[in-house]
Amino acid sequence: MRLSRSLIPTLKETPAEAQIVSHRLMLRAGLIRQQSAGIYAWLPAGLRVLHNIANIVREEQARAGAQEILMPTIQSAELWRESGRYDAYGPEMLRIRDRHDREMLYGPTNEEMLTAIMRDSVQSYRDLPQMLYQIQWKFRDEVRPRFGVLRGREFFMKDGYSFDLDYEGAVESYRRMMLAYMRTFKRMGVRAVPMRADTGPIGGNLSHEFHILAPTGESGVFYDASFETIELGDDAYDYENRADLDAFFDRMTSLYAATDEKHDEAAWAKVPEDQRREGRGIEVGQIFYFGTKYSQAMNFAVVGPDGARVHPEMGSYGIGVSRLTGAIIEASHDEAGIIWPDAIAPFRASILNLRQGDQVTDALCEQIYDALGRDALYDDRDARAGEKFADADLMGHPWQIIVGPRGAAKSQVELKHRRTGERAELDIEAALAKVRL
Ligand code: ATP
Ligand code: MG
Repeated sequence: MRLSRSLIPTLKETPAEAQIVSHRLMLRAGLIRQQSAGIYAWLPAGLRVLHNIANIVREEQARAGAQEILMPTIQSAELWRESGRYDAYGPEMLRIRDRHDREMLYGPTNEEMLTAIMRDSVQSYRDLPQMLYQIQWKFRDEVRPRFGVLRGREFFMKDGYSFDLDYEGAVESYRRMMLAYMRTFKRMGVRAVPMRADTGPIGGNLSHEFHILAPTGESGVFYDASFETIELGDDAYDYENRADLDAFFDRMTSLYAATDEKHDEAAWAKVPEDQRREGRGIEVGQIFYFGTKYSQAMNFAVVGPDGARVHPEMGSYGIGVSRLTGAIIEASHDEAGIIWPDAIAPFRASILNLRQGDQVTDALCEQIYDALGRDALYDDRDARAGEKFADADLMGHPWQIIVGPRGAAKSQVELKHRRTGERAELDIEAALAKVRL
């Protein structure tokens, strides 16, 4: 993209309304704009990040055997009366009436809807197990929307649901998803620690939250220091091998990690003192096993192997896709701006033309821009070099290809790596090779 023709409205000043660094940087880098409290528009560069995150989620869900679907955001109150949650959910649910005075709602989650879909479509145990997910907007009328996309009211969530014939199967689905989550976060370039968690209003008795450690996190967390260094999304485990899934789960749960709601002083006391870490975490995902809670309440049953009706065992699995954009910035930034992990950066590289209008410099920039195509953001604005440097650091793309008239005369550029700050004078091919790696 050419910056001169893009809507990437960077800001020099720090917006007064933003209390934490990720919110400030998302506004300053021109990724989002607030429309109402907790409701944001995603501008071109921000949307690229959101898509990159969603695509990693998709690829890892597919590897784990989950099927993608898309359900509506608007649901009927009737559906939620079946499970008993329409009254239980409280003021976080946005309730709406249509022109016929029918009660509707903007979905905060989709257990009821998918259970109803399954009830219509699946009759036999032979059709189980099933694992389905969607990536869709949710609405929760949070009391205190804050910290930008970290706690929005409208937010983008991956929500997945598993249906198994029995408890054993449900546990396997749960472990499979835990592995998928660890691989998903690892590919995004962040460490997310699986913590024993409270099951909250969704209910059930087995749950883990995945937390990115950051001082601005809303949850208090207690964990074994090993989580700062161990391999979290190991490729050696095979989804098709039950023993592998069990070994992975045992590995993840043998080390202490819990949110303050589930903190257990007796277990904590057994962690060697120099290994104990207390901190803050940002919840970027949560998985639950909740048994037959919904299948029973909503009368969803299949014919089992012996002819008897069986209520499938269920689990649900959420990832905060929009929250992750902010959470990753909380974990990866410096004084000058965002430092995007490679896999989710809006662009691989910024091309900085330091002498816009100079024939040789312009020509070299165009050549590099052609070669990189949609992976590059070309700063072709008629602006001072200092402004271009500051904006490139603020926007945080992994590489900066700096092109000035002196280098251009020798077909050379300066390549800067945003994360390490390393700079090198290189000829174009060498620079392109590094950026494309
Ligand atoms: P929280 O405790 O932060 O309010 P939750 O436990 O109510 O979240 P879940 O029902 O577990 O949320 O939703 C799955 C995921 O969706 C969460 O792990 C989180 O990453 C994301 N999420 C939940 N609420 C919000 C929100 N208001 N804004 C942005 N993301 C959210
Ligand atoms: Mg949660």
